[in-house]
Formats: sequence, C-alpha cells, structure tokens
Amino acid sequence: MAHSSQEIIDQTQEFGAKNYHPLPVVISKAEGVWVEDPEGNRYMDMLSAYSAVNQGHRHPKIIDALKKQADAVTLTSRAFHNDQLGPWYEKVCKLTNKEAVLPMNTGAEAVETAIKTARRWAYDVKGVAENKAEIIACEDNFHGRTMAAVSLSSDPENQRGFGPLLPGIKLIPYGDVDALKAAINENTAGFLFEPIQGEAGINIPPEGFLKKALDVCKENNVLYIADEIQAGLGRSGKMFACDWEDVTPDILILGKALGGGVFPISCIVANKDILGVFNPGSHGSTFGGNPLACAVSVASLEVLEEEQLAERSLELGNYMMDELRKIDNPLIKEVRGKGLFVGVELTEAARSYCVELKERGLLCKETHENVIRFAPPLVIKKDDLDWAIGHIKEVLKGI
Ligand code: PLP
Repeated sequence: MAHSSQEIIDQTQEFGAKNYHPLPVVISKAEGVWVEDPEGNRYMDMLSAYSAVNQGHRHPKIIDALKKQADAVTLTSRAFHNDQLGPWYEKVCKLTNKEAVLPMNTGAEAVETAIKTARRWAYDVKGVAENKAEIIACEDNFHGRTMAAVSLSSDPENQRGFGPLLPGIKLIPYGDVDALKAAINENTAGFLFEPIQGEAGINIPPEGFLKKALDVCKENNVLYIADEIQAGLGRSGKMFACDWEDVTPDILILGKALGGGVFPISCIVANKDILGVFNPGSHGSTFGGNPLACAVSVASLEVLEEEQLAERSLELGNYMMDELRKIDNPLIKEVRGKGLFVGVELTEAARSYCVELKERGLLCKETHENVIRFAPPLVIKKDDLDWAIGHIKEVLKGI
C-alpha cells in the first residue's frame, strides 16, 4: 500500500538528520512545472530545486539520454577514458568560449575546485609565497556547505561548531569595488563572487559592478571567479548572469541545471593557462566526468539552447516582475530579479506566505527570512505563470 504524505514526513523526521526545514509537502511525481503528492494533489514548482530544474522536471530529451546511457555504461572512474566525456567537454567549452573543463559532481565541490585552482595558480604562475595565497569573497555569499565554502560564509550559523575554518579568506561588501581594491594585495589569488546572490535573497549587484570588478582584477593579476551555479544556465534571462555586463570570468563555476535536475554534475571552466596548474593525481573525483552525467548534461545543455530558455526566462521574468510590482501593499519592500529569478522582499518573515501559497498549490520557499524566491522551471507556459501570479497577488494582497 502506498504511504501517505504524513507517514512519509514522520519517517523522514525520525530517521534523518535535521539539517533541513522543508515545507510539509511530499513529492512523489513530477513533470514539467508540475509536481504531485502521494494523495494526487498537484502543485506548481516555483523553486526548481534551487534552479537545478531549469529545463523542467523529467524533460523527455534528458530522460531519454539518461536511459540510453544507462543501457551502455554508467561509471568507469577516470582510471580509464569513457566515450561521453570528450563530447561533453567540447560542448561546455563551446558554450562558455573557454579552453578546458574540470568535472565534479556537486556545486560545493566545484567551488572547492575553483579555490584549489586559484591557490595553485597563485603559487605556480603568479609567484605568491608558499601558503600565503588569499581569496576575496563577498559578504552574504552562498557557495555551498563544504569546509571551504562555509569558511567563505559571513553567516555565523553556517560556521558554528565547524571550526577551525580555512584561512586566507577576506570578505568585502557585495557590489563594493573600492572595498575590492582595498582588499587586494600581492598575495591575492582570486576574487570569487556570485553575479546574482541567490540564497542571500536574489541580490543584484549595482549596475557596472561586474565590469569594474573585472577591470580591478585584471589590473592586479587576480583571477575573476564567477559562481554561476544558481544564476547561470538561463536562470537570469541570459545564458550566464555575467552576460548582463558582457564580462567573461577567468574561471566559471557551473552546477545544478548542468545536469537538468536529473543527475548531479558540476564543473569549472577556464583557459589552459589556468587549468594547466593541475597534473595527474592533484585533483579529482571517482564520479567526476562519469558517462551517465556527461550524457545527461549534453542533453540538458541542448535543451537550454534548442528551447531558447534564457530568452524565455527574460521575457516571462520581466512580465512576472511587472505584474508583481502592481501589488499595492506597504509590507512589500521590493520586487527584484532578473529573468525568472525573482525575489519579493517583505518587511516581515516570508514563511507563512509560502505555507499559504502551498495550500493553494504553489510551491516556493523563503530565503533569508523576509524574501520569497520565485524561480519556476524556465519551460513554464504563460498560462501557468498567469495562474501562479493570480495566486501570489491574492496571497500578498491579503498581507
Ligand atoms: N554556489 C551557489 C551560488 C549555490 O546557489 C549553491 C547551492 O545552492 C552552491 C554553490 C552549492 O551547490 P550544491 O548544493 O550542489 O553543493
């Protein structure tokens, strides 16, 4: 007999670590923008697994690639070549206009990889004295949950009880070029940033910041490292959020939608003068570059291109923000975003509104207490978006 949502929630609570605080909804089926619970209730997914499902749940082309590859070979380790890795490398290089790729599995691992790359580059290429390399990151960042990523965090709750933290990190206020200049010294290896801060509440940097920061990095021989794990791959209305200011990072970090919400895969992409710092044995992962992930990822990238999902995100995102800005309620502090990466900041906690929207069949999640993030799969149809906007308007008008 199928288990009820409540039974599943109880089981999950009983046997799992309590490192998440999910809304009380169980998803047992999904297709496109819609998900379903075991009782058959349908919900629209307005979170997209934190932007991992940009292509929509179970996109047929991606599932087809998964099934075909599952019938051929799934894992070889990097002790041997596999026939899917090369084509995927080439696809990612062409998409990013870079020369080389280093594959990993999760976003945080790719961030770790970027930090290792920057440090080794600082020693081997820039000539920084041993163990002196520094990374500059931004306050309110989110780069994941591994030790390096939490060491970068400015949120004490991300770090409490996990020390000692990684040394050699400096933080500057997000969007502050003067602070970046002031933080740079002869030991600076790289400047790591999110072109849009997702977890911090869809924070958009001041116009011109991405370009000015790039100039500062170039002038000082500092690597410019963009974490596009959440904002990239169409989410912000451009293929990469850095495209908003026409900047090309030295190192691009990708994850989430790189696997179409079907299989984890992440990577860093850079030119050979940077990625060339690695030699056999210096870095890797058993599952990194596995054929199943590569086949899924090629299909996922093709879907983004073929269905012009970045363009779609831009058009529908602008429409959505225009509509949400019409809501006349003083408790709405700001509606902001780029593409279908939309934050509604309230003057009070957002969770109860997410619960109310869930009751109406719309799944979204608060981020940083006061912000509701709306990030539907980019394949969303205009009619479905209108349905969602209608409910959001009703719930937020009733604040
Ligand atoms: N970097 C950014 C900008 C993210 O948004 C996230 C996840 O939310 C990560 C890194 C970490 O990715 P993962 O959860 O796959 O480790």
